[in-house]
Amino acid sequence: MAKRVYLFSEGNKDDRELLGGKGANLCEMTTLGLPVPFGFVITTDTCREYFHSGNKLPGLLEQEYRVALDLVEKKMGARFGDPENPLLFSVRSGAPVSMPGMMDTILNLGLNDEIAAGLAAKTGNPRFAYDSYRRFIGMFADVVMGVPGEKFEHEIEKYKAAHGKTLDVEMSAEDWQAIIATYKTLVQFPEDPFVQLKLAVEAVFKSWHTPRANIYREMNNIPDTMGTAVCVQAMVFGNFGDDSGSGVAFTRNPSTGEHSFFGEFLFNAAGEDVVAGIRTPLPVAALQERQPEVYDELFKTQAMLEKHYRDMQDLEFTVQEGRFYMLQTRSGKRTGRAAVKIAVDMVGEGLISEREALLRVSPEHVEAFLHPTVDPEAKTDIIATGLPASPGGATGEVVFSADEAEEVAAKGRSVILVRRETTPEDIHGMKVAAGILTELGGMTSHAAVVARGMGVCAITGCGSLHINVAEGIAHSHDGITLKRGDVITLDGSTGEVMLGDIPKIAASSSDDFQTLLSWADKHRKLKVRANAETPEDAARARELGAEGIGLCRTEHMFFEAERIEKMRAMILSETSAERQKYLEELLVFQREDMLELFKVMDGLPVTIRLLDPPLHEFLPHTEEDMRELAEAVGKPLETVREITESLSEVNPMLGFRGCRLSIVYPEITEMQVKAIMGAAVEATRQGYKARPEIMIPLVVNVREIRMITEIIDRGAQEVLRGTGISVPYKVGTMMETPRATLGADRLAPAVEFMSFGTNDLTQMTYGFSRDDAGKFIPDYLDKKLIDSDPFVSLDQRAVGRLMEMAVEDSRRVKKNIKYGICGEHGGDPRSIRFCHRLGLDYVSCSPFRVPIARIAAAQARVEEVGDD
Ligand code: PEP
Ligand code: MG
Repeated sequence: MAKRVYLFSEGNKDDRELLGGKGANLCEMTTLGLPVPFGFVITTDTCREYFHSGNKLPGLLEQEYRVALDLVEKKMGARFGDPENPLLFSVRSGAPVSMPGMMDTILNLGLNDEIAAGLAAKTGNPRFAYDSYRRFIGMFADVVMGVPGEKFEHEIEKYKAAHGKTLDVEMSAEDWQAIIATYKTLVQFPEDPFVQLKLAVEAVFKSWHTPRANIYREMNNIPDTMGTAVCVQAMVFGNFGDDSGSGVAFTRNPSTGEHSFFGEFLFNAAGEDVVAGIRTPLPVAALQERQPEVYDELFKTQAMLEKHYRDMQDLEFTVQEGRFYMLQTRSGKRTGRAAVKIAVDMVGEGLISEREALLRVSPEHVEAFLHPTVDPEAKTDIIATGLPASPGGATGEVVFSADEAEEVAAKGRSVILVRRETTPEDIHGMKVAAGILTELGGMTSHAAVVARGMGVCAITGCGSLHINVAEGIAHSHDGITLKRGDVITLDGSTGEVMLGDIPKIAASSSDDFQTLLSWADKHRKLKVRANAETPEDAARARELGAEGIGLCRTEHMFFEAERIEKMRAMILSETSAERQKYLEELLVFQREDMLELFKVMDGLPVTIRLLDPPLHEFLPHTEEDMRELAEAVGKPLETVREITESLSEVNPMLGFRGCRLSIVYPEITEMQVKAIMGAAVEATRQGYKARPEIMIPLVVNVREIRMITEIIDRGAQEVLRGTGISVPYKVGTMMETPRATLGADRLAPAVEFMSFGTNDLTQMTYGFSRDDAGKFIPDYLDKKLIDSDPFVSLDQRAVGRLMEMAVEDSRRVKKNIKYGICGEHGGDPRSIRFCHRLGLDYVSCSPFRVPIARIAAAQARVEEVGDD
C-alpha cells in the first residue's frame, strides 16, 4: 500500500506532484533546519483515491495520520485535544501547481469550549484564546459546513455597533465570548477535535471542485485529475500579543524586479489579517525597529531560501512572543518587467545560467516591453469579452467607420474603430485607430491579422456586442449601449472591453530585455522573420530583430487611395489592352513600394507573395462607391455592377484566388515580377543588397508551380537583360492546401523554399471558415470539444501531422530545402516549439511578435538540449 501521510521531515522540494507545492516546500524548509512548525502532508494520490471511491476517505487514512500526529505532538510538546496543554492545527490545501486563494483553509482546528478555556488558562491570555476560537468556528462553519462566512461577519458588526466598538483590537475576551455564544446558535459544529480534523481533511479535498477552483484550472490549463494535498501543521500565533505578528515578503521586488528585500508586517495579527487587507500592514522595516533579532533571522532566511531555490521567493512568516517561524515559501509571482530583470540579474549573480534565464520568462512577460498594457489593478466596468486578437491596451472614442476614424483622429483625438468585421477597405481607419473592436471574425480574420501587423490593440469575435453601424450604436448582452463618441478601453491581451479610460502601464524596452534577447539569439536554431508590407513595419521588424521578411502580402499595397482606383480599373478591364494599361500604372506603384522594402531590409531576404485574395475583395460594395468607380473608369454604372456581380463567389476562400489568379491572368503576375525585379535592380544600383524570394500562394500541384515559375523567370530575365546587374532570386511555394502537403515530394524539386500558410491550412483541414469561426469556436471551447482555438495555436495532431509529412517527404527528395511558416501560428510560442521540433528553418510573424518568437525559439532549443 502506498504511503499516504508524510511528516515534514520525510519529503523534499522535488515531491510537488505527490505533496503539493506547499507541502513539498514545508518539507524542504524543515530539512534545511528552518523554524517551521511541525506537521504532516496527506498526498495528492489520497485525494484522487477519495474522488475515485465516490468521495470516501480511505479506511486506513485516519490510522495513518494519527501515527504522524503522535510524532508532531512529541515534537511540539503539546497534545491535540488536551485542554491542559492543547495543540492546534492549521489544515490547508496545496496543489502541485500554485492556485493562490482558490481552495480552502481552516485555522486553529482542535478547539472546543473546554479546550478554549484551557488555552486561556495555559497562555494567561483569554482574549487571544477566544479570538482564536471564534475565528475557528467561523472558518470551520464556512469551509466544512457550508454556512457562509458573511453571516458571522455580520454578527460581529452588529455586536460592535451595539457596544460602540469599531476595531477588532478593541474587542475583549468577554466580547469574543459573547460572539462565540451567538455563533453557536447559527451552527452546530463537532466538539471532538478528531472529528473536526477528519471533516476538515475531507473539506479540503472537496474544495478542489469548488466552482472558482474549477474556473481557475480551466483558465490556466491545469488538469482536473491533479488533485490537492492537505497540509496539517501545528499552529503558531501572530495574534498572541504585541510581541507577535504575521507577515508576507518577497526576496526581490515583484513589480520592478529590484534586488531589494520587500515585505509587509502586522503586529498582533494572524496571517489571514495580512492577506485580507482589513488593516494596512507596515513595511517590514517596522519589525527591524521593534524586534531587530527577529528581523535579522527573517533577513538571513529569505537570502538563504532564494539562494537555495535559485529563484525569487514569496514567503509567509509568523512571530509568536518574539520567536520567528516560517510558514511558506514559493516562487513569487511577478510582473513582466520584474521577470526579465530578475532572470538577467540572477545570471549576473551566478545563480542561474543564461539558458535557465530564458526559461524563466513567458510570452506574456515580454508583452510589457512592447505594448502599453491595461493596469490589472484598475480594471472596472467590463461590458463585453471577445477574442484577444492583438495584445496591448488602448482607450479612445467609439467610431463606427474608417472614414469617421480618420476624421476624429485628424483632430488629435484617440479612436476605437468598432465594426461588425473589417475589410481591406477599412485600412485607412485601422491605421489611425488606437484600437479595433469587431463583433465577428476569429483570430486570423482580417482585423486580427492587420492589427497584429501594425501592433494595434484589437479584439475580434466580440459576439456579446451587437453592432449596428448604420445607426451608429452597439448593444451589449447586458443591456449597455455604446454610442458614437463614448470612451472605451480595450485590453487586447485578454479580450475585455471596458467603459471609460482605464489607466495603462506604458511600454518601454530595457537593457535587461535586450540582454535576454541577445541570449535568445545565441541559443536558438530557428530563424525569425516578419510578415510586413510597408517600409515602416519592415523597419520596426528589423529593429525588433527580424532576420528577413517571411511574408509580404502584396495585395495590401493596392488598398491605398490612388492605387485602389487603378486596381479596380484593372479588374474591370474588358480587353487585354485595357488591362495592360492599368497594369503598367500599377507596376510603377508596386516597384516603388518594393524598392523601399529592399532598402529597409538591405542584405536580408524578402519573401514576396504573388497576389492572393479573390479579386472582388478589391471592388466596391455600396451603390455610391460603384457610382464613383463607374465615373472614374468611364464605364456605365450598369457595366460596373455586372462585372462586380460576376466576380462575386459563393465560397470565395475556396474560389478564384491564390495562384489561380496567375493561371487565368498571367499578365498580373508578370507585372508583379517586373516590379519586384525592377526594384531589386534599382536597389542594387543605389548600393543596397536585394534578396527577393518570390512565393506562389495556394498551390495544389506541381504543374501550377511550373507554369508560374516560367512566367516569373521570363519576367525576371526581361528586367535583368542588359542591366549588367545580376540579382539572385528564389522561387518558392506556400504550403496551405492539404493537397499540397500530401503531395510535397512532387512540389519540392520544383522550388527553392516552402512556407506553411497555416491560416489557410487550418481552415481547409478543419473545414472551419477562418472568417466565421468566431461564431462557434467559443462554444467548442466551452463544451471542451477542442482544447484551444486552432487558428491561434497549431493543431499539432492533424494540421501538424500534415506539416510533418510534408517536411519529411520534401526533404527526402530535396535534402536541404528551406522550410518556413508564415501563418499567424508563426508568432505563437507553443506552435513555435512545434516548428522547432519539425526542423523548420524559420518562423515568420507580425513585427511585434518577433521578440516573443526569438525567446520562444530559444526556449524550444533549451528544452531540447537541456541546461548543460
Ligand atoms: C496563411 O494562409 O497562413 C497565410 C499566411 O496567408 P493569408 O493569411 O494571407 O491567407
Ligand atoms: Mg493563405
